[in-house]
Amino acid sequence: MKSASFHPPKRLLMGPGPSDLHPRVLAAMAQPTIGHLDPAFIDLMDDIKRRLQAAFGTANELTMPISGPGSAGMEACFVNLVEPGDVVVVCVNGVFGGRMKENVERMGGHAVLVEDAWGSPVDPAKVEAALAAHPGAKALAFVHAETSTGVQSDAAALCALAAKHGALSIVDTVTSLGGIPVAVDAWGADAVYSGTQKCLSCAPGLSPITFSPRAVEAVKARKTKCPSWFLDFSLLLGYWGGGAKRAYHHTAPVNALYGLHESLVLLEEEGLEQSWARHALQHRALVAGLEAMGLGLPVAPAHRLPQLNAVTVPDSIDEAAVRAQLLSRFGLEIGAGLGALAGKVWRIGLMGQSASPAHVMACLTGLETVLAEMQAPIATGRATGAASQILFG
Ligand SMILES: *Cc1c(COP(=O)(O)O)cnc(C)c1O
Repeated sequence: MKSASFHPPKRLLMGPGPSDLHPRVLAAMAQPTIGHLDPAFIDLMDDIKRRLQAAFGTANELTMPISGPGSAGMEACFVNLVEPGDVVVVCVNGVFGGRMKENVERMGGHAVLVEDAWGSPVDPAKVEAALAAHPGAKALAFVHAETSTGVQSDAAALCALAAKHGALSIVDTVTSLGGIPVAVDAWGADAVYSGTQKCLSCAPGLSPITFSPRAVEAVKARKTKCPSWFLDFSLLLGYWGGGAKRAYHHTAPVNALYGLHESLVLLEEEGLEQSWARHALQHRALVAGLEAMGLGLPVAPAHRLPQLNAVTVPDSIDEAAVRAQLLSRFGLEIGAGLGALAGKVWRIGLMGQSASPAHVMACLTGLETVLAEMQAPIATGRATGAASQILFG
């Protein structure tokens, strides 16, 4: 009888997430499931919390992975902090800022938008003006690493503006954590969420979050009950914060947490700074190769994210056909443009384990092969040499 088992095709993941998983993370997830209240599992939860604090650069007591993807972490921040009638200044310079606005409005809050062009960072001067025009705003929300455009905003400056105006800062670090510096305590950030499938190179489905003491106070001072039962921190804390007295809230995704733990062990072994440096180096190599081919990057160099590279699609080239060829012939996944950039850019991820010389070279070779066959106006024979020069001198 033919087996109905699923066997995924072999892929190189170079899109906006998920990224390739280290074999040790896959092996960790294949270990036997144990009870989520087993003392051995409770020790693991405590170790995950400690390792997440190190990755986030925080001593925040309320630091834990939410059992859900990055979007669940986003929702957890808004549903716990925003009450009906609250004013929240929301920075929108791409898809994920737009989702923050949706979250504020669904919680009954009033979103004051600070908009910047897709491909540009959040402008602190506009944020300052919005906070000044709305005294009493409960929070400032922004995306540190906008995955839809490949742009980095100045988290330290934006968090400082929020603090100066007495507002909490809500920061999306889904794509930044592990790939570029994230320094929650140094920034003075209050509510920060991330994801596991981007630069942590873990399976999708978990969202590390961290709340400052100030944010915890705001949760405790709520006038209304948190409208979400599953994401209510006052309940979740009894589970993640209860130590040996841990109370049942939901069943933690045990094997997924084995994977997160191993990815955090790998991060510690490599070193945070070394991980950031590795992402930066692969980015410089990829850009050198793309530019040697004659391809352009729409984001100004100073604001580019190393882990997510927007690349301009040459005129007359069908961007979706290129992605389809890369996938079917080379097993290589890259991302499409989103929203305002749909059809205009590809998004090439260099996240976590996918930030490697082998990935850079495979991507440049695949892209050059496919584009040359489509008679795109590119220079051939130069890209991998230019990248190799950066990587190996
Ligand atoms: C991927 C991403 C999310 C959402 O994470 P999911 O795990 O897909 O739910 C949120 N914000 C940013 C910036 C992201 O890149």
